[in-house]
Amino acid sequence: MSGTDRPFAAHTTKALADWLRAGGDWLFPPSCLACRRDLAEHRLIAIGGLCGDCRSQLTFERRVCGRCSAPIGPNLPTDGDCILCRDERYAFERAFALGPYDGVLRDLIRRAQKPGQELVARMLARQTAERWTDELTAANVDVVVPVPQFLPQWWWRRYNTAAVLADEFSRILRRPVSGWSLVKTRWTPSQAQSSPSDRRQQQRGAFRAVPWGRIRGRTILLVDDVLTTGGTSQAATRALLAAGAARVLVAVVARGIGR
Ligand SMILES: [Zn+2]
Ligand SMILES: [Zn+2]
Repeated sequence: MSGTDRPFAAHTTKALADWLRAGGDWLFPPSCLACRRDLAEHRLIAIGGLCGDCRSQLTFERRVCGRCSAPIGPNLPTDGDCILCRDERYAFERAFALGPYDGVLRDLIRRAQKPGQELVARMLARQTAERWTDELTAANVDVVVPVPQFLPQWWWRRYNTAAVLADEFSRILRRPVSGWSLVKTRWTPSQAQSSPSDRRQQQRGAFRAVPWGRIRGRTILLVDDVLTTGGTSQAATRALLAAGAARVLVAVVARGIGR
């Protein structure tokens, strides 16, 4: 090998090794993505990166509101609204969530929101897509769009959980992801510190969508990590519809049911 070849070869080998390692962790993870137990040491079998215990903890009751995905009582119909969303005028058709924002799921989302935790975010997207396979297939999604961050905020962290989730949904649904069709035009305060009505107000008009062919006349799957008041999804949906989108459906990992 000549001297000039070496840096390239070294670079390629490293890239290949990284790629293989990522793929290897993907198919044969050394530890459970949720409880982090060493799979070999505990003689556990992982499916989708999760041990059996964590998988069952992330399997949720199917009885949820057919509009906002909040859990509902055993005798209530699942094809309408619920007590939480009855007074909401969502512009999106419906929301799909893996489960309520609580317990193990909340802990995992908090982890997935940190840079470097892409595998956790991807696992959560896969679990969500698995739960809603039939409905997502029937929805006939054309393009997947993540809820964006305000650019300076993204620049600071270089990580947007919604973008990672959207990328995984795109792989599963075999539909393109469009990261630049929707932009956030201003900073909004952290949702956790505001009241529900303030949150809705803060998000209003905070997004703009590009009225190009990827959006016009298309069915959009808008992806975010958590839906609580629905203010963010609502504002983003309005922007997408204003840019000519035909329909917007929302996929989130968790439905926040706290007020
Ligand atoms: Zn586990
Ligand atoms: Zn509802």
